[in-house]
Amino acid sequence: MLSYQHAYHAGNFADVHKHLLLSRVLAYLNLKPAGWTCYETHAGDGMYDLASVEALKTGEAEAGIKRLLNESARDLTLPEVMQTYVDIVRAQLDQQRYPGSPGIALGLAREQDAQVLCELHPAAFAALHGWASSARRHSGARISVHQRDGFEGVAALSPPAGGRGVVLIDPSYEIKADYETIPLWTAALLQRWRGAVVMQWYPILAKAGHAEILATMKAALPPTTGVRLTVEWSATGSAGMRGDRTPGMSGSGMVITNAPWTLADELAGIKDWLNEHLSIVQRIEVSP
Ligand code: SAM
Repeated sequence: MLSYQHAYHAGNFADVHKHLLLSRVLAYLNLKPAGWTCYETHAGDGMYDLASVEALKTGEAEAGIKRLLNESARDLTLPEVMQTYVDIVRAQLDQQRYPGSPGIALGLAREQDAQVLCELHPAAFAALHGWASSARRHSGARISVHQRDGFEGVAALSPPAGGRGVVLIDPSYEIKADYETIPLWTAALLQRWRGAVVMQWYPILAKAGHAEILATMKAALPPTTGVRLTVEWSATGSAGMRGDRTPGMSGSGMVITNAPWTLADELAGIKDWLNEHLSIVQRIEVSP
């Protein structure tokens, strides 16, 4: 039974965090001419209407992407690292829309790149299907959409020819076991596809016990010869970007296996900016 609907949360604090990171990973892959494939286990609608009843009910975009864009509209220089993400979003925001992760990846895709998107919820899949058809018509984008379980679907459809690509795992964690089963799934994926860049999003929850959940999640992740990067953003003040509109969520985390080796330094370069202008505390952990 699927009850989570991302339309209530589109463009929130966590979306900005996760979509910025996705844009940096794909920008890195774009440094080489060989094509990539971006797989998503939990694709969502593809595009969201910020004037919808759902979005207006929570107002989460106000404390997320709109807060960031207000900041960048002032007499301030946006960090270079954020520019591509903001450009992709701004093109949609003028029409009161916010691109989901498939829309962000489409914004970076070249003609040799492809997207493979899984979504289980019937209404979200219908929206995703419509969005992908329109993208194919307008730009000839190579997008395939699949109404099936994302873990089963991505395992069956990967690795891509050429072996370059990303897997974004973005569940709602309504199923608590996901914290433990996803790292195990990642381990199996990496056995078949060693070079996959695997991005697993997770919420930072205010409640006690969360640290334990994270420790269990990380312990279950397989060893890697590449870089493993954990990037957490925590919202600290009411004046900045806020994660606390989603009940219980005070921040947003992403663990990236086989991360681009330049990413940690890039993100370290915006730490102070994030803190000063958006009241975000960024924590980065690099291993091995
Ligand atoms: N990645 C999207 C984005 O950033 O725009 C948001 C995804 S939303 C957090 C999670 C989505 O996963 C929901 O649309 C939900 O219907 C879908 N979902 C839940 N369980 C799933 C599963 N086992 N396989 C595929 N999709 C699933």
